[in-house]
Order: sequence, then C-alpha cells, then structure tokens
Amino acid sequence: MTNPTCPHCHSACFVIKCGLNDSGSQRLRCQACRRYFTPQPKPAGYEQSIRTFALKLHLEGTSLRAIGRLLHLNHQTVVNWVNAEAQRLPELVCDQTPTRKVEIDELFTFLGKKKSKSMSC
Ligand SMILES: [Zn+2]
Repeated sequence: MTNPTCPHCHSACFVIKCGLNDSGSQRLRCQACRRYFTPQPKPAGYEQSIRTFALKLHLEGTSLRAIGRLLHLNHQTVVNWVNAEAQRLPELVCDQTPTRKVEIDELFTFLGKKKSKSMSC
C-alpha cells in the first residue's frame, strides 16, 4: 500500500496510522502538520435495504419496537426513518372546499355493562 498524501499539506512522508473511526475506517495523522484525516471513509448509517424493509414492516402494521427487535435496531431509529419518510410525502388534501356530509359506517359504541357469569353465581 502506498502512503497516502495529507489533504492539508500534501505531504506523503510523515503520515502514520492513528486508529479507526466510529465507522471502522482507517484514520491517519500527518506528522508534518499534525492534522488527522481519513483517506477512504466508509459510509455511515444503515443500508437502504434495511431502511426499506423496516418501512415495509411498519406499513404492514408491525409495531416500531417489534421492528427494532426483529432487525436489531433501536426503536427510535425506526421512528426517525418513518418520520423522515413521512416528511417526503406530498400533502394529501389538494381540495380546499369544506366537507358538509360525512358517512361513517360500522361504528359501534357499547354503553352498557356486560354481566360476567362469575359474578352472578
Ligand atoms: Zn499534513
């Protein structure tokens, strides 16, 4: 492997390895100007395929915490992805005229109290 040149002072002679970044890419330090740089950074974040699969699971009705457990993610990460995707959606209501009639079907409300058999004995 050839010695990479420093992007700041363009020196190639005094570059040493200096650990790894959080993403796992090699970090280097220039001894001439004492600055750090990463010649080949790895992309940060999760792959797009995992994001898409998490969003599909959410659309199928899987809870956010269940998606996190299934894909070994933090549930807040899934929430952030869902919110980011929701921000990209266009506005649903284009017609600004007010609605006068609304038809609601199959709406039930139980106002009574069910009698349990164990209480009547
Ligand atoms: Zn340098």
